[in-house]
Amino acid sequence: VSSQVGTVVACQANYYQVRFLVAGEPLYFLCTRRARLKKLGQQVVVGDQVVVEEMDWQDQRGAIATIHPRNNLLDRPPVSNVDQILLVFALAEPQLDPIQLSRFLVKAESTGIPVRLCLNKRDLLTPEDIEQWQARLGVWGYKPTFVSVQTDPCLPSTLMDTLKQRVTVVAGPSGVGKSSLLNRLVPDVDARTNTVSGKLGRGRHTTRHVELFGLPGGGLLADTPGFNQPDITCDVAMLMRCFPEIRRSQGQCQFNDCVHRDEPGCCVRGDWERYPHYLSLLDEVLQHQQQQEHRP
Ligand code: GDP
Ligand code: ZN
Repeated sequence: VSSQVGTVVACQANYYQVRFLVAGEPLYFLCTRRARLKKLGQQVVVGDQVVVEEMDWQDQRGAIATIHPRNNLLDRPPVSNVDQILLVFALAEPQLDPIQLSRFLVKAESTGIPVRLCLNKRDLLTPEDIEQWQARLGVWGYKPTFVSVQTDPCLPSTLMDTLKQRVTVVAGPSGVGKSSLLNRLVPDVDARTNTVSGKLGRGRHTTRHVELFGLPGGGLLADTPGFNQPDITCDVAMLMRCFPEIRRSQGQCQFNDCVHRDEPGCCVRGDWERYPHYLSLLDEVLQHQQQQEHRP
């Protein structure tokens, strides 16, 4: 076979690591980009589905000739064709901060990509505390998966179920166990990083770029997320869509353009837990909008 479709799993300078499934087994090719793509100014990013030509099966090298249209594209760092965002937070150490969690949830929701919430370090909480969080986040509109990356003998199968056959980007603040999770889910993560990074000429600890790792059950997992300091820069309409509590009452307010602040006949305003979070993010979004408008 001289040409085949694969997934770009890592980029460095003008080299791309492309993953193919051959008889169900992953093969990694080191590829360049055809001059034609360069001329067209087409960037190749991690997650892209690409047609590779001039395949050299001996040295596992080739040239990317075509990029398939993307379903979506996250920035900083760029990664495309993402099926879901796995938002990881810790229940303790560091203590779960509801406002910070809300912010990350809104940032993730504002991409339009499905969001899954994973709460780690459940070994540090009592079952009663966990039940409380479950109920509380249920009211927010989320059904988190509770895990302990460190102590669960096998990570709950629900987590593996949602990860298999999908491209997942892991996001969350530092210290919550994202690297530990990746190490648990991708058993040979070190080995693979070494070979890929070796070929791409970089060491594992200098990795600032995103990389997709193949999971044993199928599916791909990205190691570094874009939004560690989530500024909310979407518009008001999108902000409202980012709250499941508001989505539920879509179109039920008296005014079509209700922003649920002080309009008469608003059915969203109320004493639900995250309403103050919404109001403060609304201020932030409106302020950001004003700054944009006043820019010369
Ligand atoms: P990251 O910054 O999100 O990548 O977090 P790390 O994976 O580096 O983990 C941060 C700290 O949390 C480390 O000291 C881990 O050993 C610890 N940690 C990770 N998972 C768990 C867990 O399930 N339970 C407990 N108690 N600690 C954990
Ligand atoms: Zn309203």
